[in-house]
Amino acid sequence: MKAALITQPRTLKLANLEAPQAGHGQVRVRVGATGVCGTDLHLFEGHFHARLPLVPGHEIAGVIDQVGPGVEGLQEGQLVALDPVVSCGQCWACRRGQRQHCLHFQALGVTRAGGFAEYVVAPAPNAYPVQGLSPAEAAFAEPLGCVAWGIQRLRPEPGSRALLFGAGPIGLLLMQALLISGVAQVAVVDPVAERRTLALKLGASHALAPGEPTLDLAPHGFDIVAEATGAPAVVEAMPRYAAVGGKLLIFGVAPEEARVQVSPYDLFQRDLSLIGSFSLNGTLPTALAWLESGRVQVGSLISHRLPLEGLEQALAYKEHPGMASALKVLIEPGQS
Ligand SMILES: [Zn+2]
Ligand SMILES: [Zn+2]
Repeated sequence: MKAALITQPRTLKLANLEAPQAGHGQVRVRVGATGVCGTDLHLFEGHFHARLPLVPGHEIAGVIDQVGPGVEGLQEGQLVALDPVVSCGQCWACRRGQRQHCLHFQALGVTRAGGFAEYVVAPAPNAYPVQGLSPAEAAFAEPLGCVAWGIQRLRPEPGSRALLFGAGPIGLLLMQALLISGVAQVAVVDPVAERRTLALKLGASHALAPGEPTLDLAPHGFDIVAEATGAPAVVEAMPRYAAVGGKLLIFGVAPEEARVQVSPYDLFQRDLSLIGSFSLNGTLPTALAWLESGRVQVGSLISHRLPLEGLEQALAYKEHPGMASALKVLIEPGQS
C-alpha cells in the first residue's frame, strides 16, 4: 500500500509498505480521508519525541475492509471515524477516566501507524460507525471530539457571552460547539479577513481584527474567554477580557517552552477560572452527534482535498505560498 512516512525530522517519503492485517480485536480501515493538523506539523518538525519512521495522521475516517477475530458489532463496508487514543484501561489515569493521560499512551498517527496511508489498523473499540456523512466530513470527528472535551471541561453556563481568539479550523469548530452548548453569543478575533467572514457565516455575533475594541461588546467583560491560537501573547491578554467569575479556556497548543505572566491576585480577586483541555476523552460520539445532526457545519472549513502526494506541501506549508492561508487540508489516499 502507499503510505506517507516521516523518516527523519523534516523529511517525508512516499513509501510502498505491506498493508497491515487486522489482528485479534482489531479492524482494518481503507482510509477515505485524513485531516492534517498542527500535531502533524510538530511531528514533521521532530517534536513530541516522535519515534521515526512514522506514518502520521490521526483524524481518520474510512470504510472497514477487514474485521479481525473476536470483534463484535462491526462489519466490512461500514464507514467509521477513528478515535486515535489507544489507552490501556488499567493504569491509574485510565481507572480515573482520563484515558488521554494513560501512562501507556499510544495514538494512531502519533506513536503508531496512522491515516496518511491507504490502510490503517485500529482496535475495534476505537472505530465508531458513522451515519449520513461523507468520509471527508467524518474526518472532523476527531478534532471536533477534542472540542467536545474542551466543552466538557469548560461547562458553559446558559446565556454566557464568549470571546474567542482564533478562527482557524479548530477555532471555528469550537465557536460552533459553544453556540450549541448554551452560549448565547460568541465574538471572534482573528487577523485574517476571510476567516472573520466565515466566522460570521457560521454564527459568530461579531468578528474583529486584533486590536479592535473588543470590550465595547461586553463592558463588564465576557463570561468565557477562549483561545485556539497557541499564541502565548494571546493567553497573557485573556484575563483582561474576562468578567468577574469568568472562565478562561486554553485550547491552542503553545510552544512547550513558552511562559506568560498572569496576576495571581487578579485570578483570585475576580473569581477567574483557568482551564486547560488536552486531546479527547471518549468524546468522539458527541462530535459525531453534532456532525450527523448538522448542528456543526464543516463543509466550508475544508480548503484542500489532496492525494497522499500533497501531504508534503501541507506540512512544509511555509515553502508553499498557496498553503499559508489554508483552512482544513484533507488527504484522500484513495485519490491519485
Ligand atoms: Zn489533530
Ligand atoms: Zn492506561
